[in-house]
Amino acid sequence: MEHSFDAMIIGAGQAGPSLAARLTASGMKVAFAERHLFGGTCVNTGCRPTKTLVASAYAAHQARRGAEYGVAIESPIRIDMKRVWARANTIAVEGRKGVEAWLRGMEGLTVFQGHARFEGPDRVRIGEALLTAPRIFIDVGGRASVPDMPGIDQVDYLTNTSILQLDTVPKHLVVVGGSYIGLEFAQMYRRFGAQVTVVEKGPRLIAREDEDVSEAIREILSEEGIAVRTNATCIAFKPHPDGVAVGVDCTSGEPEVVGSHVLLAVGRRPNTDDLGLDKAGVATDARGYITVDDGLATSVPGIWALGDCNGRGAFTHTAYNDFEIVAANLLNRESRRVSDRIPAYALFIDPPLGRVGMTEAEARKTGRPLLVSKRPMTRVGRAVERGETKGFMKVVADAETKRILGAAILGVSGDEAIHGILDMMNAGSPYPTLQWAVPIHPTVSELIPTVLGDLRPIA
Ligand SMILES: Cc1cc2nc3c(=O)[nH]c(=O)nc-3n(C[C@H](O)[C@H](O)[C@H](O)COP(=O)(O)OP(=O)(O)OC[C@H]3O[C@@H](n4cnc5c(N)ncnc54)[C@H](O)[C@@H]3O)c2cc1C
Repeated sequence: MEHSFDAMIIGAGQAGPSLAARLTASGMKVAFAERHLFGGTCVNTGCRPTKTLVASAYAAHQARRGAEYGVAIESPIRIDMKRVWARANTIAVEGRKGVEAWLRGMEGLTVFQGHARFEGPDRVRIGEALLTAPRIFIDVGGRASVPDMPGIDQVDYLTNTSILQLDTVPKHLVVVGGSYIGLEFAQMYRRFGAQVTVVEKGPRLIAREDEDVSEAIREILSEEGIAVRTNATCIAFKPHPDGVAVGVDCTSGEPEVVGSHVLLAVGRRPNTDDLGLDKAGVATDARGYITVDDGLATSVPGIWALGDCNGRGAFTHTAYNDFEIVAANLLNRESRRVSDRIPAYALFIDPPLGRVGMTEAEARKTGRPLLVSKRPMTRVGRAVERGETKGFMKVVADAETKRILGAAILGVSGDEAIHGILDMMNAGSPYPTLQWAVPIHPTVSELIPTVLGDLRPIA
């Protein structure tokens, strides 16, 4: 059965549904394909459930610290993992239902539930239905990557998706991968009471960040009793009576860690291998990401790629911004470009890391004259009052233009406070402008002008 539409969207993640709303509002007849869970990764197996779990883990951590605040909790706290799980699941399911109801009720939109596959540059098959459209928008996201590591096929392992089905606390969780997703799970499960080991093949955690950031995060996690094994050059797996033996090192330290559970958090891969892109002629790079130009158009006229599958972002806000770019260019005749986006993101451990723009190392590589300022959270009143003084703030600026190039706030409310700097960068304002702002006391943000006032040339 062949159906023709003005436009078609594949994937109900973070860009597709909002784009559907804009296209149908402009009068187009639009087809929508989703093969699994409405809301995609963020709502079902990413941001929403994990940040809900992070909140439970924070509550547990603060409860254990009650005495420090003069709050007596007479007996050891107990984690009711079934309730923790149910809370996360309920919040994810509510989000999913909301997206599905929105799409199904959208005037001008026909929802097809099933796997979409290209059969030509303007045609896509979903089961029995063959859909044609002159405009096709791909928003198929990604999934956990499972590299072919020695022994991986002989053991049970978890990914960010399957770990969310656990309603018990693992005895010993071995997290393979010391980056953003792995560290969030590592800290939350430690706080739920698991023994946790993070195994990272590189020399330090979250290697994309500056060394001082990596080091401070390692300290934060180690202080909570998380074992960190970096330089794990020989990662391998074999069954063990107590779970899984993970080989971590060929040269020094205990060569093996035995975990009751193993979480693989070693990266993501795009869902583009089963999309029939070759039938449409859509080009991908060596890792399978769809190649796009600055307006997110693919190599085939009339086909765009948005969200994680284009490799230009790996976050909900970047996927959503992709929708904004495409909608503005197509429907408002603007010329928005993805290269105008200032990178910003957070690592939601506690305390969180808020990041914007370049790292100090990246800024140094540009060869520009730089100013740097750093302030420990022990010198931020709000952090002291809250008894949460781990971490620091760091800002890097161009000494000539006085523009901020990047910043990191690793500390309480760092994920929120960073927006003051992000907004300045988006406005294109030089940093002295912010020094004349009168921020609210007592907040973490109020120290940002002070940090800017301390900017000094780098050695
Ligand atoms: C554990 C974890 C935590 C995260 N935390 C955060 C966070 O705190 N903040 C943040 O910004 N980002 C976070 N992310 C990243 C965020 O989830 C993604 O960047 C975001 O979901 C990308 O949206 P998307 O629209 O590109 O794709 P997705 O959300 O992955 O959606 C793609 C959709 O396409 C569907 N699909 C795929 N192929 C087909 C096909 N052939 N036919 C039909 N449908 C198809 C899928 O079923 C899915 O519903 C996290 C990710 C993970 C894994």
